Amino acid sequence: MKITVIGTGYVGITTATSLGEIGHQIMGVDIDELKIEQLNNGVLPIYEPGVEPVIQNLLKQGKLHFTTSLKEAMEGTEIIFIAVGTPQLSDGRPDLKYVEEVAREIGRHMTEYIVIVDKSTVPVGTAEYVQSIIKEQLKLRGLSVAFDVVSNPEFLQEGKALQNSRKPDRIVLGCSSQVAEDVMLKLYENIDALKHLTSPRNAEMIKYASNSFLATKITFINEMARLCDLLAVDVVEVAKGMGMDKRIGPYFLQAGIGYGGSCFPKDVSALAMMGREVNMEMTILKSIQEINQKQTDWFLERVKECMGALDGKRITLLGLSFKPDTDDIREAPSLKLIQKLLAEGAFITGFDPVASNKIKNIFPNIKIGEDAYSAVKDAEAVVICTEWKEIIDLDWRTIKSLMHGDFIFDGRNALDREMLQLEGFQYWGVGRNLNK
Ligand code: NAD
Repeated sequence: MKITVIGTGYVGITTATSLGEIGHQIMGVDIDELKIEQLNNGVLPIYEPGVEPVIQNLLKQGKLHFTTSLKEAMEGTEIIFIAVGTPQLSDGRPDLKYVEEVAREIGRHMTEYIVIVDKSTVPVGTAEYVQSIIKEQLKLRGLSVAFDVVSNPEFLQEGKALQNSRKPDRIVLGCSSQVAEDVMLKLYENIDALKHLTSPRNAEMIKYASNSFLATKITFINEMARLCDLLAVDVVEVAKGMGMDKRIGPYFLQAGIGYGGSCFPKDVSALAMMGREVNMEMTILKSIQEINQKQTDWFLERVKECMGALDGKRITLLGLSFKPDTDDIREAPSLKLIQKLLAEGAFITGFDPVASNKIKNIFPNIKIGEDAYSAVKDAEAVVICTEWKEIIDLDWRTIKSLMHGDFIFDGRNALDREMLQLEGFQYWGVGRNLNK
């Protein structure tokens, strides 16, 4: 099938790549000229493992093209994916201006039946809204062209995007016509996954409910970690024991310094706002937002408890992206932590396998290590913000010998506590400080 994907960010690129792999003919569209030029040269503008070689291969086979012209991309297309950003507005709602712009432009160029698919995360009712914008543009042109708007939310995890798209747990298809449903089932027929057929409004809600549930799970274990800390209990053991229950499951039960990223904070906020708009206070969401907000403060208090006043102390942060295997730093806990540590007067050095430069652009006054070993030189404490494998696998004996102090604050409970203690570190983990 001939497919157009609008927006070549984390979601758009992955959608284009995975659909290209299963044999579809793909046009990727973005307003960012540099991104399009890079992509047409087989260069991935983001860090996402495994995607670049697949793009290069598809370009070579002529199955994938990138352009800044939506009009050109739309010629003969059967399906258009909208995969543009929906960032958070200051009042907590998602900003739909990119989705609106795209819908208007589709309406300006459409001449025959197309299925338009919302892949961006958008509030309940947006499929109908997109439909009304397109209809308005067609009316201005004096045309009456049939089309459908489908909600097909994306559930990929950055860092594992391609593998998630190749084999998703489920594909949610919110269709309002049989024709659209048939087109979408044909599109995904070669992807082996459960297909959940439902209405566009239900599909839109499934996305927000799923992300908010995951954020709740993380926040639950983070609050448990704070209690475990006070009661001489190890939260890692607790999570392990809980996760063995199939009704609970082991995922998203790792206590840490709070959730971040481009999705959870904004999606929880958007769902809470959806409730407020119909006069319903979403009390669970309100609590998890508060708890998550305070998690870095709580962490910082624990650091101060161990190290005393932080004024003038040299602290190295290892792992700066919001999670491993991505260069994405949107709402990363490291940002909040750096800000707070600087306010306390600490000297900060940071290192991340791929996100160091992005952090340096935001905090030009902090030092960035060329690698983890140079970053920890003379540090009095090391903080693990993100559990990259290459950070967990560092030679910790060498790290210890390079440091000036011996504190290690494992903000992700990712390191081997016993080994580090044997190496002479004063180890601190989130909710696992039994000998306080
Ligand atoms: P992104 O910011 O990485 O990419 C968005 C892209 O859209 C940018 O390249 C931008 O230039 C482009 N764009 C904006 N306006 C455009 C226009 N008029 N025409 C063409 N291109 C335009 O965003 P993302 O992380 O890929 O997220 C996209 C959507 O998917 C969001 O709604 C997000 O909530 C959702 N989502 C993201 C993830 C994730 O892990 N990143 C996962 C699931 C869902």
